[in-house]
Amino acid sequence: MLPSDIMKILVCPVCKTHLIYNPHRNIFICKNCRIYYPVIDGIPDLRPEAATKLPSEESEKDSSH
Ligand SMILES: [Zn+2]
Repeated sequence: MLPSDIMKILVCPVCKTHLIYNPHRNIFICKNCRIYYPVIDGIPDLRPEAATKLPSEESEKDSSH
């Protein structure tokens, strides 16, 4: 788990929306851009080249909880 303080200040470098941490997948999600960033060795990788497009159906699943 990452410290909650880090999770609060992390924003998407593209749109500046606060990122949502998904502990099940260990990723940070930007719902605005519909992309997610991986966490490598406990450090969020927020480089644009590390971002992966989020499948719309999975986004809906995550947001329901
Ligand atoms: Zn974004």
